[in-house]
Amino acid sequence: MSPLTAEAVFVAPRTLPEVYTALEALGPAATLLSGGMSLMPMLNRGIGPRDAIVSLGRVDGLAEVTLRGGRLSIGATATHTAIARHPLVARSAGVLATAAGGIGDLQVRNRGTIGGAVAHGNAGADYLTVLSALEATVVIGGSAGERRAALGDFVLGLRSTDLRHGEVVTAVEVDGSAPDAAAFLRYHRVQGAAPTITAAAVIRDDRTVLAIGGATPTPTVVRVSSVEQALAAVDAACAANPLGDAHNPPDYRRAMAAVHTRRVLEEAAA
Ligand SMILES: Cc1cc2nc3c(=O)[nH]c(=O)nc-3n(C[C@H](O)[C@H](O)[C@H](O)COP(=O)(O)OP(=O)(O)OC[C@H]3O[C@@H](n4cnc5c(N)ncnc54)[C@H](O)[C@@H]3O)c2cc1C
Repeated sequence: MSPLTAEAVFVAPRTLPEVYTALEALGPAATLLSGGMSLMPMLNRGIGPRDAIVSLGRVDGLAEVTLRGGRLSIGATATHTAIARHPLVARSAGVLATAAGGIGDLQVRNRGTIGGAVAHGNAGADYLTVLSALEATVVIGGSAGERRAALGDFVLGLRSTDLRHGEVVTAVEVDGSAPDAAAFLRYHRVQGAAPTITAAAVIRDDRTVLAIGGATPTPTVVRVSSVEQALAAVDAACAANPLGDAHNPPDYRRAMAAVHTRRVLEEAAA
Protein backbone atom coordinates (compact mmCIF):
# COMPACT_ATOMS: atom_id res chain seq x y z
CA MET A 1 0.00 0.00 0.00
CA SER A 2 1.32 3.43 -0.92
CA PRO A 3 0.03 6.27 1.29
CA LEU A 4 -0.70 9.46 -0.67
CA THR A 5 -1.35 11.52 2.44
CA ALA A 6 -1.70 10.67 6.10
CA GLU A 7 -5.31 9.60 5.35
CA ALA A 8 -5.42 8.53 1.70
CA VAL A 9 -4.43 5.12 0.33
CA PHE A 10 -4.24 3.83 -3.25
CA VAL A 11 -3.60 0.15 -3.94
CA ALA A 12 -3.44 -1.68 -7.26
CA PRO A 13 -3.27 -5.44 -6.57
CA ARG A 14 -2.27 -7.98 -9.24
CA THR A 15 -4.69 -10.76 -8.24
CA LEU A 16 -8.29 -11.02 -7.08
CA PRO A 17 -7.36 -12.62 -3.70
CA GLU A 18 -5.13 -9.57 -3.10
CA VAL A 19 -8.09 -7.31 -3.96
CA TYR A 20 -10.29 -9.14 -1.42
CA THR A 21 -7.56 -8.87 1.23
CA ALA A 22 -7.18 -5.13 0.58
CA LEU A 23 -10.96 -4.56 0.78
CA GLU A 24 -11.14 -6.43 4.07
CA ALA A 25 -8.12 -4.62 5.52
CA LEU A 26 -9.37 -1.16 4.52
CA GLY A 27 -12.99 -1.77 5.60
CA PRO A 28 -15.99 0.35 4.55
CA ALA A 29 -13.74 3.32 3.67
CA ALA A 30 -12.48 1.41 0.62
CA THR A 31 -13.83 2.15 -2.86
CA LEU A 32 -13.15 0.01 -5.93
CA LEU A 33 -11.87 1.81 -9.00
CA SER A 34 -12.26 0.32 -12.47
CA GLY A 35 -12.42 2.67 -15.47
CA GLY A 36 -13.21 5.65 -13.24
CA MET A 37 -15.71 7.07 -15.74
CA SER A 38 -18.52 7.12 -13.17
CA LEU A 39 -16.43 7.09 -10.00
CA MET A 40 -14.12 10.01 -10.76
CA PRO A 41 -16.96 12.51 -11.39
CA MET A 42 -18.55 11.31 -8.13
CA LEU A 43 -15.31 11.75 -6.17
CA ASN A 44 -14.88 15.20 -7.70
CA ARG A 45 -18.29 16.11 -6.31
CA GLY A 46 -17.42 14.68 -2.90
CA ILE A 47 -19.82 11.74 -3.18
CA GLY A 48 -18.83 8.49 -1.45
CA PRO A 49 -15.80 7.38 0.53
CA ARG A 50 -12.57 8.48 -1.14
CA ASP A 51 -9.74 7.95 1.29
CA ALA A 52 -8.93 4.38 0.21
CA ILE A 53 -9.03 3.42 -3.45
CA VAL A 54 -8.54 -0.20 -4.57
CA SER A 55 -7.86 -0.28 -8.31
CA LEU A 56 -8.81 -3.28 -10.46
CA GLY A 57 -6.74 -1.95 -13.36
CA ARG A 58 -3.73 -4.23 -12.83
CA VAL A 59 -5.52 -7.48 -11.95
CA ASP A 60 -4.31 -10.15 -14.39
CA GLY A 61 -6.93 -11.90 -16.51
CA LEU A 62 -9.89 -9.82 -15.34
CA ALA A 63 -10.60 -8.46 -18.83
CA GLU A 64 -10.78 -11.86 -20.55
CA VAL A 65 -13.65 -12.77 -22.87
CA THR A 66 -14.26 -16.52 -23.20
CA LEU A 67 -16.85 -18.88 -24.69
CA ARG A 68 -17.08 -22.07 -22.62
CA GLY A 69 -19.85 -24.56 -21.95
CA GLY A 70 -22.30 -22.56 -24.03
CA ARG A 71 -21.78 -19.38 -21.98
CA LEU A 72 -20.09 -16.17 -23.11
CA SER A 73 -18.15 -14.75 -20.17
CA ILE A 74 -16.90 -11.16 -20.21
CA GLY A 75 -14.36 -10.20 -17.56
CA ALA A 76 -15.24 -7.21 -15.39
CA THR A 77 -12.44 -4.95 -16.61
CA ALA A 78 -13.17 -5.49 -20.31
CA THR A 79 -13.63 -1.97 -21.67
CA HIS A 80 -16.55 -0.83 -23.80
CA THR A 81 -14.15 -0.58 -26.76
CA ALA A 82 -12.85 -4.13 -26.25
CA ILE A 83 -16.42 -5.48 -26.05
CA ALA A 84 -17.51 -3.55 -29.15
CA ARG A 85 -14.62 -5.09 -31.11
CA HIS A 86 -14.35 -8.61 -29.70
CA PRO A 87 -15.06 -11.39 -32.25
CA LEU A 88 -16.65 -13.70 -29.64
CA VAL A 89 -19.04 -10.94 -28.54
CA ALA A 90 -19.87 -10.22 -32.19
CA ARG A 91 -20.62 -13.90 -32.81
CA SER A 92 -22.64 -14.68 -29.64
CA ALA A 93 -24.16 -11.37 -28.60
CA GLY A 94 -23.81 -8.86 -31.43
CA VAL A 95 -26.43 -6.61 -29.84
CA LEU A 96 -24.10 -6.18 -26.82
CA ALA A 97 -21.27 -5.10 -29.14
CA THR A 98 -23.64 -2.61 -30.77
CA ALA A 99 -24.56 -1.12 -27.38
CA ALA A 100 -20.93 -0.99 -26.19
CA GLY A 101 -19.79 0.78 -29.37
CA GLY A 102 -22.17 3.68 -28.79
CA ILE A 103 -21.54 4.44 -25.09
CA GLY A 104 -20.33 7.98 -24.41
CA ASP A 105 -17.37 9.04 -26.53
CA LEU A 106 -14.14 7.27 -27.46
CA GLN A 107 -12.39 8.29 -24.26
CA VAL A 108 -15.23 6.92 -22.12
CA ARG A 109 -15.31 3.69 -24.15
CA ASN A 110 -11.53 3.24 -23.84
CA ARG A 111 -11.60 3.55 -20.03
CA GLY A 112 -15.10 2.46 -18.91
CA THR A 113 -15.67 -1.21 -18.13
CA ILE A 114 -18.61 -3.59 -18.10
CA GLY A 115 -18.00 -4.52 -14.44
CA GLY A 116 -18.02 -0.86 -13.43
CA ALA A 117 -21.22 -0.17 -15.34
CA VAL A 118 -23.03 -3.17 -13.83
CA ALA A 119 -21.77 -2.41 -10.30
CA HIS A 120 -22.84 1.24 -10.68
CA GLY A 121 -26.41 0.10 -11.41
CA ASN A 122 -27.54 3.22 -13.26
CA ALA A 123 -31.06 2.72 -14.66
CA GLY A 124 -30.48 4.20 -18.10
CA ALA A 125 -27.05 2.64 -18.63
CA ASP A 126 -26.85 0.96 -22.00
CA TYR A 127 -25.42 -2.27 -20.59
CA LEU A 128 -28.13 -2.78 -17.98
CA THR A 129 -30.79 -2.65 -20.68
CA VAL A 130 -29.09 -4.85 -23.23
CA LEU A 131 -27.85 -7.33 -20.61
CA SER A 132 -31.39 -7.58 -19.18
CA ALA A 133 -32.72 -8.53 -22.61
CA LEU A 134 -29.87 -11.07 -22.91
CA GLU A 135 -30.88 -12.50 -19.47
CA ALA A 136 -27.34 -12.01 -18.13
CA THR A 137 -25.84 -13.44 -14.97
CA VAL A 138 -23.48 -11.39 -12.80
CA VAL A 139 -20.50 -13.27 -11.33
CA ILE A 140 -19.48 -11.89 -7.94
CA GLY A 141 -16.29 -12.77 -6.08
CA GLY A 142 -15.20 -12.25 -2.50
CA SER A 143 -12.97 -13.79 0.14
CA ALA A 144 -15.78 -16.26 0.97
CA GLY A 145 -15.90 -17.53 -2.63
CA GLU A 146 -17.91 -16.88 -5.78
CA ARG A 147 -21.65 -16.43 -6.28
CA ARG A 148 -23.85 -15.79 -9.28
CA ALA A 149 -26.96 -13.62 -9.52
CA ALA A 150 -29.41 -12.95 -12.32
CA LEU A 151 -28.95 -9.30 -13.37
CA GLY A 152 -32.57 -8.58 -12.42
CA ASP A 153 -31.91 -9.75 -8.85
CA PHE A 154 -28.54 -7.97 -8.66
CA VAL A 155 -29.76 -4.47 -9.56
CA LEU A 156 -32.09 -3.45 -6.74
CA GLY A 157 -32.90 0.16 -7.65
CA LEU A 158 -31.45 3.35 -9.07
CA ARG A 159 -27.68 3.04 -8.49
CA SER A 160 -28.36 0.35 -5.91
CA THR A 161 -27.16 -3.24 -6.19
CA ASP A 162 -26.89 -6.39 -4.14
CA LEU A 163 -23.08 -6.01 -3.95
CA ARG A 164 -21.85 -6.40 -0.38
CA HIS A 165 -18.74 -4.80 1.07
CA GLY A 166 -15.69 -6.83 0.13
CA GLU A 167 -17.30 -8.21 -3.02
CA VAL A 168 -16.23 -7.56 -6.59
CA VAL A 169 -18.10 -8.06 -9.87
CA THR A 170 -15.66 -10.37 -11.65
CA ALA A 171 -17.56 -11.17 -14.87
CA VAL A 172 -20.86 -10.99 -16.70
CA GLU A 173 -22.20 -14.06 -18.51
CA VAL A 174 -24.77 -14.45 -21.27
CA ASP A 175 -26.00 -17.32 -23.42
CA GLY A 176 -23.24 -18.16 -25.87
CA SER A 177 -25.61 -19.10 -28.68
CA ALA A 178 -26.53 -16.16 -30.85
CA PRO A 179 -30.20 -15.10 -30.71
CA ASP A 180 -32.35 -15.45 -33.84
CA ALA A 181 -32.61 -11.65 -33.96
CA ALA A 182 -31.98 -8.67 -31.72
CA ALA A 183 -32.03 -4.88 -31.70
CA PHE A 184 -30.80 -2.08 -29.46
CA LEU A 185 -31.87 1.58 -29.49
CA ARG A 186 -30.62 4.57 -27.52
CA TYR A 187 -32.48 7.87 -27.41
CA HIS A 188 -31.02 11.13 -26.03
CA ARG A 189 -33.23 14.15 -25.56
CA VAL A 190 -30.15 16.25 -24.69
CA GLN A 191 -27.16 15.47 -26.91
CA GLY A 192 -24.11 14.50 -24.83
CA ALA A 193 -26.18 13.80 -21.71
CA ALA A 194 -27.07 10.35 -20.39
CA PRO A 195 -29.59 8.51 -22.58
CA THR A 196 -33.26 9.26 -21.90
CA ILE A 197 -34.34 5.78 -22.95
CA THR A 198 -32.48 2.64 -23.95
CA ALA A 199 -34.36 -0.30 -25.46
CA ALA A 200 -33.30 -3.84 -26.33
CA ALA A 201 -35.16 -6.80 -27.76
CA VAL A 202 -33.75 -10.32 -28.07
CA ILE A 203 -35.66 -12.96 -30.02
CA ARG A 204 -34.90 -16.67 -29.47
CA ASP A 205 -36.88 -19.62 -30.82
CA ASP A 206 -38.96 -19.99 -27.63
CA ARG A 207 -39.10 -16.41 -26.31
CA THR A 208 -38.74 -12.71 -26.99
CA VAL A 209 -37.34 -10.61 -24.16
CA LEU A 210 -37.73 -6.83 -24.15
CA ALA A 211 -35.90 -4.45 -21.80
CA ILE A 212 -36.54 -0.73 -21.46
CA GLY A 213 -34.06 1.38 -19.47
CA GLY A 214 -34.42 4.93 -18.22
CA ALA A 215 -38.16 5.07 -17.51
CA THR A 216 -38.11 3.15 -14.22
CA PRO A 217 -35.46 2.87 -11.45
CA THR A 218 -34.33 -0.52 -12.81
CA PRO A 219 -34.81 -1.76 -16.37
CA THR A 220 -38.34 -2.93 -17.14
CA VAL A 221 -38.10 -6.47 -18.53
CA VAL A 222 -41.00 -8.10 -20.38
CA ARG A 223 -41.48 -11.55 -21.92
CA VAL A 224 -43.24 -10.49 -25.09
CA SER A 225 -46.27 -12.23 -26.56
CA SER A 226 -47.40 -9.30 -28.72
CA VAL A 227 -46.48 -5.66 -29.26
CA GLU A 228 -49.72 -4.56 -27.59
CA GLN A 229 -49.06 -6.75 -24.52
CA ALA A 230 -45.50 -5.36 -24.28
CA LEU A 231 -46.74 -1.77 -24.54
CA ALA A 232 -49.27 -2.37 -21.77
CA ALA A 233 -46.66 -4.02 -19.51
CA VAL A 234 -44.10 -1.22 -20.02
CA ASP A 235 -46.74 1.46 -19.43
CA ALA A 236 -47.92 -0.23 -16.22
CA ALA A 237 -44.31 -0.43 -14.95
CA CYS A 238 -43.73 3.28 -15.73
CA ALA A 239 -46.93 4.21 -13.89
CA ALA A 240 -46.02 2.09 -10.85
CA ASN A 241 -42.35 3.18 -10.59
CA PRO A 242 -41.83 6.48 -12.42
CA LEU A 243 -38.39 7.96 -12.95
CA GLY A 244 -37.62 11.49 -14.10
CA ASP A 245 -35.43 14.57 -13.90
CA ALA A 246 -35.59 18.21 -15.02
CA HIS A 247 -34.77 17.42 -18.68
CA ASN A 248 -36.80 14.23 -18.85
CA PRO A 249 -39.81 14.31 -16.51
CA PRO A 250 -41.55 10.98 -15.77
CA ASP A 251 -44.41 11.54 -18.24
CA TYR A 252 -41.95 12.26 -21.04
CA ARG A 253 -39.89 9.15 -20.25
CA ARG A 254 -43.11 7.11 -20.10
CA ALA A 255 -44.15 8.36 -23.55
CA MET A 256 -40.67 7.71 -24.98
CA ALA A 257 -40.67 4.23 -23.41
CA ALA A 258 -43.80 3.43 -25.43
CA VAL A 259 -42.32 4.81 -28.65
CA HIS A 260 -39.11 2.80 -28.21
CA THR A 261 -40.91 -0.37 -27.14
CA ARG A 262 -42.72 -0.47 -30.45
CA ARG A 263 -39.65 0.61 -32.44
CA VAL A 264 -37.19 -1.88 -30.95
CA LEU A 265 -39.62 -4.81 -31.33
CA GLU A 266 -40.28 -3.87 -34.96
CA GLU A 267 -36.57 -3.46 -35.65
CA ALA A 268 -35.71 -6.84 -34.07
CA ALA A 269 -38.52 -8.58 -35.96
CA ALA A 270 -37.42 -7.01 -39.23
C1 LIG B 1 -18.89 11.69 -20.37
C2 LIG B 1 -19.49 10.35 -20.03
C3 LIG B 1 -20.47 9.83 -20.86
C4 LIG B 1 -21.05 8.59 -20.56
N1 LIG B 1 -22.02 8.12 -21.38
C5 LIG B 1 -22.60 6.93 -21.11
C6 LIG B 1 -23.61 6.41 -21.96
O1 LIG B 1 -23.98 6.99 -22.99
N2 LIG B 1 -24.16 5.21 -21.62
C7 LIG B 1 -23.74 4.49 -20.52
O2 LIG B 1 -24.26 3.42 -20.28
N3 LIG B 1 -22.77 4.97 -19.71
C8 LIG B 1 -22.20 6.15 -19.96
N4 LIG B 1 -21.21 6.62 -19.14
C9 LIG B 1 -20.79 5.80 -17.97
C10 LIG B 1 -19.67 4.85 -18.41
O3 LIG B 1 -20.20 3.81 -19.18
C11 LIG B 1 -18.91 4.25 -17.21
O4 LIG B 1 -17.73 3.74 -17.76
C12 LIG B 1 -19.56 3.14 -16.45
O5 LIG B 1 -20.85 3.48 -15.97
C13 LIG B 1 -18.75 2.79 -15.21
O6 LIG B 1 -17.68 1.99 -15.55
P1 LIG B 1 -16.23 2.28 -14.98
O7 LIG B 1 -15.39 1.10 -15.35
O8 LIG B 1 -15.77 3.59 -15.46
O9 LIG B 1 -16.48 2.22 -13.40
P2 LIG B 1 -15.94 3.18 -12.24
O10 LIG B 1 -16.28 4.58 -12.54
O11 LIG B 1 -14.51 2.88 -11.95
O12 LIG B 1 -16.82 2.63 -11.03
C14 LIG B 1 -18.20 2.85 -10.95
C15 LIG B 1 -18.73 2.28 -9.63
O13 LIG B 1 -18.67 0.86 -9.62
C16 LIG B 1 -17.76 0.38 -8.62
N5 LIG B 1 -17.02 -0.70 -9.28
C17 LIG B 1 -16.29 -0.57 -10.41
N6 LIG B 1 -15.90 -1.78 -10.85
C18 LIG B 1 -16.39 -2.69 -9.98
C19 LIG B 1 -16.34 -4.11 -9.92
N7 LIG B 1 -15.73 -4.85 -10.86
N8 LIG B 1 -16.97 -4.73 -8.88
C20 LIG B 1 -17.62 -3.99 -7.94
N9 LIG B 1 -17.71 -2.64 -7.95
C21 LIG B 1 -17.09 -2.00 -8.97
C22 LIG B 1 -16.93 1.56 -8.18
O14 LIG B 1 -16.54 1.48 -6.84
C23 LIG B 1 -17.92 2.71 -8.41
O15 LIG B 1 -18.81 2.78 -7.32
C24 LIG B 1 -20.61 7.85 -19.41
C25 LIG B 1 -19.61 8.37 -18.59
C26 LIG B 1 -19.04 9.61 -18.89
C27 LIG B 1 -17.96 10.17 -17.99
